[in-house]
Parts: sequence; C-alpha cells; structure tokens
Amino acid sequence: MERILVSACLLGQPVRFDGRAKALKDSLLKRWSGEGRLVPICPEISAGFGTPRPAAEIMAGFDGLGVLAGTARVLEATGADVTGPFLEGARLALEATREAGCRFALLTDGSPSCGSTFIYAGGFDGRAKAGAGVVAALLAAEGILVFPESQIAELAEALEAGGGS
Ligand code: SF4
Repeated sequence: MERILVSACLLGQPVRFDGRAKALKDSLLKRWSGEGRLVPICPEISAGFGTPRPAAEIMAGFDGLGVLAGTARVLEATGADVTGPFLEGARLALEATREAGCRFALLTDGSPSCGSTFIYAGGFDGRAKAGAGVVAALLAAEGILVFPESQIAELAEALEAGGGS
C-alpha cells in the first residue's frame, strides 16, 4: 500500500508559525489515516524551529528552486536569515520520504516550505505568487509527486492510477 508524506499541520498538529494547525477535514485523508499510510512531518519543526515563530518568506523574485540553487534566501519578518534551517528541513523531509518509500506527498499550500502551487511573495504584505516552497521544490526535483491540500482528489486519482489506492 502506498504511503503518503503529509504536512503535519494538515493532520491537526499545531505546528504552524502562529502555533496553530491547518486541519484538513476530508474523508480521503481520514480513510488513509485509518489505513496507517500517512507519514506526517513538519519540516520546520524537524529543523529545530519552535512554535510560535516569526513568519518567514522566500525573498521577492524567487521560489524554493532559487533557495535550493543558492541564489535566494529565506527571511523572517524580522530580517533574520533562516535559509540554513529551511534547507535542513527540506533535507529531512526528503530523508523521511525515502525511508518510508513514499512516491506521493500532500503538502500545505502557501508555505515557504510546503507550498507547491503558490507561496507568499516576499514582502510580508499578504501578496502571493505562483511557485513552490523549499520542501516541495526538493521533493518534486527528486521525483516525488507533490499535491496541495486543494488537490487531494487528484492525489487519490494518481494513487489509483499507480495501483496504490
Ligand atoms: Fe505545516 Fe509545512 Fe509549515 Fe510545518 S512547515 S507548519 S508542515 S506548512
């Protein structure tokens, strides 16, 4: 049975920067959880961040690919450079993915780590843009199929198509 890497905040764990969760109420997620196939991870907590913590965004004009390439930084609203821990979180997420044999991931969109279709634009003003966070970019580059929570139905279809439903 296919296992699925999942952002811990989607499973109700209060690990977000604001100390809250982003629980996804969905029958598919509930079923997969009951089947024991979910592999939860919060890359930022794994990398040593606490909760709550300052908001962080990838610098304007870049996304997670730029961070992986070494051309962009991840900055907190305070101006602190947290690129190193964000890269470490991505490395740990990839390690967890490989250890569990996951080919699929369901990650929280909008996050500078887990976002896969959009992230915030770097100005800490609420503006978003298309792009992936550091974790999603690394997993995708390593061949993992990453889905945001808004595309859980598409993930279920991909699992079925891959014989892993
Ligand atoms: Fe959720 Fe990912 Fe942010 Fe952790 S790093 S709080 S799992 S979106």
